[in-house]
Amino acid sequence: MVQIQSRNNRELPQTQGRITRVDWDKVDRSKNAVKTFGIWIGIMCGSSLVPFWHYLLVPSFFITAWVMAMDKLNEPARSEGGDGECPQCHQPFKIEKSKWTPRITDTCGKCFNDLEVFIQTANQ
Ligand SMILES: [Zn+2]
Repeated sequence: MVQIQSRNNRELPQTQGRITRVDWDKVDRSKNAVKTFGIWIGIMCGSSLVPFWHYLLVPSFFITAWVMAMDKLNEPARSEGGDGECPQCHQPFKIEKSKWTPRITDTCGKCFNDLEVFIQTANQ
């Protein structure tokens, strides 16, 4: 169960929604890490073609690749997305897939209200 709050108007009462949690196992995490590392190394190779700036870009993308890969390796779960009710227009909206964090930001597709989705760790 998640609580949904409007970021544009905090006075509005919170509504509720549901999202699906998917736990990564060790193999998935390593795959994610390798994939992320590969993407950033690809960007690094691309940046080596940029004149002059490659002196700066190549090492910084190399560091980014490691940092992002390590981040993926430590990511315990992700959110598969879900449904909720918009606190502003009371229309159902889809919660996007994202990292599993206590607070997910999203936008209502109907009234374009900025929303915050709070995951309640107690009822999982
Ligand atoms: Zn809305």
